[in-house]
Amino acid sequence: MITRMSTLFLRTLRDDPADAEVPSHKLLVRAGYIRRAAPGVYEWLPLGLRVFRNIENVVRQEMNAIGAQEILLPALLPREPYEKTGRWSEYGSALFRLQDRKGADMMLGPTHEEIFTQLVKGEFSSYKDLPVTLYQIQTKYRDEERPRAGLLRGREFTMKDSYSFDLDDAGLQKSYEAHRSAYQRIFDRLMITYVICAATSGAMGGSASEEFLAECEVGEDTFVRSTESGYAANVEAVLTPVPEDLPTDGLPRPAVHDTGDTPTIDTLVDWANGALDGTFTAADTLKNVLVKIRKPGEDWQITGIGVPGDREVDMKRLEAAVEPAEVELLGDADFAANPALVRGYIGPKGVQAAGGTYLVDPRVVTGTRWITGADEQGKHVVDLVAGRDFTPDGVIEAAEVRDGDPSPDGKGVLQSARGIEIGHIFQLGRKYTDAFEFDVLGENGKPVRVTMGSYGVGVSRLVAVIAEQMHDEKGLRWPREVAPFECHVVIANKDEAAVAGAQALVAELDAAGVDVLFDDRKASPGVKFKDAELLGVPTVVVVGRGFADGKVEIRDRLTGETSEIPVADAVAVITAAVRG
Ligand code: ATP
Ligand code: MG
Repeated sequence: MITRMSTLFLRTLRDDPADAEVPSHKLLVRAGYIRRAAPGVYEWLPLGLRVFRNIENVVRQEMNAIGAQEILLPALLPREPYEKTGRWSEYGSALFRLQDRKGADMMLGPTHEEIFTQLVKGEFSSYKDLPVTLYQIQTKYRDEERPRAGLLRGREFTMKDSYSFDLDDAGLQKSYEAHRSAYQRIFDRLMITYVICAATSGAMGGSASEEFLAECEVGEDTFVRSTESGYAANVEAVLTPVPEDLPTDGLPRPAVHDTGDTPTIDTLVDWANGALDGTFTAADTLKNVLVKIRKPGEDWQITGIGVPGDREVDMKRLEAAVEPAEVELLGDADFAANPALVRGYIGPKGVQAAGGTYLVDPRVVTGTRWITGADEQGKHVVDLVAGRDFTPDGVIEAAEVRDGDPSPDGKGVLQSARGIEIGHIFQLGRKYTDAFEFDVLGENGKPVRVTMGSYGVGVSRLVAVIAEQMHDEKGLRWPREVAPFECHVVIANKDEAAVAGAQALVAELDAAGVDVLFDDRKASPGVKFKDAELLGVPTVVVVGRGFADGKVEIRDRLTGETSEIPVADAVAVITAAVRG
């Protein structure tokens, strides 16, 4: 195919769009790949669509290769199946809800577990029918709170979602492993640098789950990995190593002290170092952060989170720990309504006295001694011992994870980096098959409850992820597998012979099966070179001054190498280059 830029529906922009913060967003708009229709909603222009389709094909090939079968379900869905699993309400304001002309509730699908489960239940009924894995590459809708970064977080986006149905745990494990390795092949082919991280399962429910995170400065996910082992986890999924309980015998009794105006951890530590024997740090204090938590369909519940005073509560970890419940910091009105909670001086007892739930960090084990609030203005208690002087209602992973924390596998320490989630694989188990009572007849004639996995790849997001990881200061750079064209030929010489030579070269490349973008515009070489760099086709061929001497120039956008070759060799050299 020859695509002529003189007639191509493409306008490149000199300036970054005002709403763009991250490089991939700026470049994809400037290079005319996408245009914004509404916040988080994008139009795909010719070059963008080509990259998108190429990525889609890689995903499709690897899914087909593990025996998954492609189908396509609607985005417009009825309420009932999601009502059945509780997700109609659990999804909260992220769900696009609408009504049809008869007033029936409908929604735009954010993910399709319910519909796939119902569908397979309707068709299959015997153990002989399983296992089966179905997938689709389809448009999803989520009213994201912060649609940002262009395609990275859309409100309309394309996902490859697959669902496996198995008879037993061993079958599910096999389906999961098949997806895991298919995803590795997909992301390797796309030349993405990524990490497979242990993950929380969030609103999906279920147990084992891993995320594929593309390493990226601008990523919204923080993950940690061990300096000494292969351990890697999304920060939300890091489990704190739990120390052993300590003996409480012989520990001093708790004593309440007048600590004056000490509402912060720093002021409290200063007081302790002045008034008590010994040296104290923030880690000796127990900080109690008050939040309210609301489970779906229930009332807000006041909850105190006790963490060592040298750590902050990480709201994302807290949100992940309580999901699908919502969580908010306690506000002025809540404090006013609960006088037992003395701001700045809150202790475990005050929380429980106010009818609240008191949850602690896993490090707060029986026998640990703390300086903490005494629930009275200007007062703290010293030597308050966990398990002796207070009994938490439970443990919660909400404290921040820090570089240098011990790795949960006992090997090395953790280091953090940022990433963008490109894929997520879940062993759902029977959450959805229970909701829909999906059994098949087992070999022994008895019903067997089917077990499920669900697996997602952000296809549209991948366009931006590749742009993000591969771009340079001049523009986009595409791996050959996904580039919008294999080769970009630029006429940079007005001489008639050169123009005719370029046209002949392009025709020969086309005949050799090379997909060519041909810059035949009446524009200056400078403008054309800049556009070629911005558009990012991996092989650029310049028919320029050297043509008079029988030479063309080949520029490799991926390696930055430039070479001059005889026109006579051009087709062979270019064909070899683009076929990698
Ligand atoms: P995130 O944590 O980034 O919001 P998620 O955990 O909600 O993602 P999943 O429900 O696991 O996402 O969806 C599967 C895949 O779909 C993700 O791995 C991601 O690549 C992609 N994806 C999810 N939300 C969006 C979005 N708003 N825009 C583009 N792609 C998305
Ligand atoms: Mg996810």
